[in-house]
Amino acid sequence: MRLGTRKDGWRQRDAPPHSSAASRGDDPTMPPVIAPDGPGRQVAPLRPGDRVAIIGAGPAGLTAAYLLSKQGFQVTVLESSEVMGGISQTAQYKGYRFDIGGHRFFTKIEPVQAIWEELLASEFISVPRMSRIHYRGQYFDYPLRAMNALRGLGLVNAVRIVLSYMHAQLNPILIEENFEQWVTNRFGNRLYQIFFKTYTEKVWGIPCTEIRAEWAAQRIQGLSLAKAIVSATALNKRSTKIKSLINEFRYPRLGPGQMWEAARDRVVEMGNRVLTGHEVSGIEYATDPATGERRVTAVRARTAGGEQRFTAEHVISTMPVRNLVRALEPAVPVRVRVAAEGLRYRDFLVVALILEGDDLFPDNWIYIHTPGVKVGRIQNFNNWSRAMVPEAGKTCLGLEYFCFEGDGMWTSSDEELIALATRELDELGMARGRPVVDGTVIRMPKAYPIYDGEYREHLDRVREFIDPIANLHTVGRNGMHKYNNQDHSMLTAMMAIWNMQGASHDIWSVNTDFEYHEEQRLESSGTASPSPHPTA
Ligand SMILES: Cc1cc2nc3c(=O)[nH]c(=O)nc-3n(C[C@H](O)[C@H](O)[C@H](O)COP(=O)(O)OP(=O)(O)OC[C@H]3O[C@@H](n4cnc5c(N)ncnc54)[C@H](O)[C@@H]3O)c2cc1C
Repeated sequence: MRLGTRKDGWRQRDAPPHSSAASRGDDPTMPPVIAPDGPGRQVAPLRPGDRVAIIGAGPAGLTAAYLLSKQGFQVTVLESSEVMGGISQTAQYKGYRFDIGGHRFFTKIEPVQAIWEELLASEFISVPRMSRIHYRGQYFDYPLRAMNALRGLGLVNAVRIVLSYMHAQLNPILIEENFEQWVTNRFGNRLYQIFFKTYTEKVWGIPCTEIRAEWAAQRIQGLSLAKAIVSATALNKRSTKIKSLINEFRYPRLGPGQMWEAARDRVVEMGNRVLTGHEVSGIEYATDPATGERRVTAVRARTAGGEQRFTAEHVISTMPVRNLVRALEPAVPVRVRVAAEGLRYRDFLVVALILEGDDLFPDNWIYIHTPGVKVGRIQNFNNWSRAMVPEAGKTCLGLEYFCFEGDGMWTSSDEELIALATRELDELGMARGRPVVDGTVIRMPKAYPIYDGEYREHLDRVREFIDPIANLHTVGRNGMHKYNNQDHSMLTAMMAIWNMQGASHDIWSVNTDFEYHEEQRLESSGTASPSPHPTA
C-alpha cells in the first residue's frame, strides 16, 4: 500500500527522509519527531515549488501555514471570517477581550510546545487555576474530589452514593454502549445523576443514552469512584509536578487569539498570504481515467469582491467534514454525501457580561449543574488575565450556552440573550448584587463535533472517499470530526506535513492512542479528580 511509484509520477511513501532528531537540527518543529507509525495512507509528496492552499486560519491551519512557510513553501490560507484562531480566537468588545470558552494552553507534545514558545514566549503568563461546580446553591471542587463531593452532598446522600456505586459494581451493565452505561458502571447511578447527566445533556443537547460510551472513555479515562476515594486519601503522595499541572496553566496575556494573530504575522512576514473573508465553497478534483485516482486541482472561495479560484498542488483542509464533502466538485456519490450530512455538531454561544466590581468570585470558570437555568458554564475573564479587562473595578464574565444553530436560543436577539444571562446570573446568586452595565453575544457554529451512535459509520464512509485523494489532507478538530484540543489539532496538521515529506504517521490515531492531557490523566497518578465535563 505504501511503496512503489504511481502512474502519475507521484512517489508513494518509502523510508522517511527525516526520521531522526539529528535530521531536524535543533528545531523540534521540523519533521518528524514523535507519534506512532500507523497504517497511514498514500500521500502526495511535497516538492520544491509546490503551492499549498490551506482552508481555515484556526490553530491547525495556521500551524500548517507556519511550518510550511518556515521551509519556504508557497502557502495561501483561506479563512471565511475576519479573525484568526477559529474556535481559539479572542473576541473583542469595547476593549474587553474574551474567549469562546476559556482556552488553557497545556500540552505534552514537544513540537507543539516549541511552536507556542517560538510564537509567543514572553507573552505567556502563568495563571493560578481554580474551577468549581455550582449545584443547588453549593460549590464543589472541580476536578471533583471524592471526599469534598461526598461531604458537600451530606451524609444521607453520601451513603446513597456509595450504596448505588456498590450496586453498580455487583450488577454491572454488561455491554457498555452509551455514556450513561459507561459512567454508571464506574460511579454508580446516583453520582451519575448529580455530576454527569445534567451537564452532559446540556452540552450535547441529546440524552446521555444517545452519546457513545467511546466519548466517555476518551474524556474520563481509567477512573472509578473507588479509585477517586482511594486517591483522595493519598493526596500527600502527589508529586509537585502533578500539583502544579492542576493548580496552574499557561495563557497568552491577551488571550488565545494573540497566539494565532502572531502566527498569521509570521506567515505573512515570510512572504505568504492569509486571506480573510474567503469562504471556500468549491474544491475541484479530477479523476485519472486510467487509474481512477482522484486529485484536487483547485479551490474556489466566495469573497466580497466575487469568487476567487486558487490552483494548488496540495490542499490542507480544516473546514468541517460535512462542508468539505458539500464543496467537492464534481459532486461525490450519494452514499458519501448522505454520510457527511449525517455528521452532527453542537453549536455554542457566549454572552459576555460586564459588571461593576471586580471581586465576584475567584474561579477561572464555574460549571453550572443547578437545574432550572440554561447556562452551562461561567468564565470570569478577570481571573484569566488582567489584560483582558481594560477598566479597573469591572468584571467581564462569559456565560456559555450550548445550542443548535437555528434553535430558539441561537436565533434569540442579542438583547434577549443578555437579559437571559443577567437573570440567570442573579438567580444563581453569582452577581452578588453587582449591576450588569453592558453585554455582547458571540455565536460559534460547530463548536463541538458530536459523537452520536452513527458518527463513526458516517465518518468511515466519508473517509473511504476522501482518504485516497493523496493531495487532500484533512486535519484539525472539525476537519476530522474529532474532539481535539488545540494541541491535538495542531499535531494533526504537523503530521500531515511530515507525511507529505515522507513520514507515515497515522493522523487519525491522534487523541485516540495518544495520552490525553486533562485532569483525568492526572487522576490515575494519584489525585482525586473525576472529570465529567468536556472542558474543550
Ligand atoms: C468551549 C470550548 C473550549 C475549549 N477550550 C480549550 C482549551 O482550554 N484548550 C485547548 O487547547 N483547546 C480548547 N478548545 C478546543 C480548540 O478550540 C480547538 O481544538 C481548536 O480551535 C481547533 O482548531 P482547528 O484549526 O482544527 O479548528 P477551528 O478552530 O474550528 O478553526 C477552523 C477555521 O476554519 C475556518 N473555516 C471553516 N470553514 C471554512 C470555509 N469553508 N472556508 C474558509 N474557512 C473556513 C473557520 O472560520 C475557522 O477559523 C476548546 C473548544 C471549545 C468549543
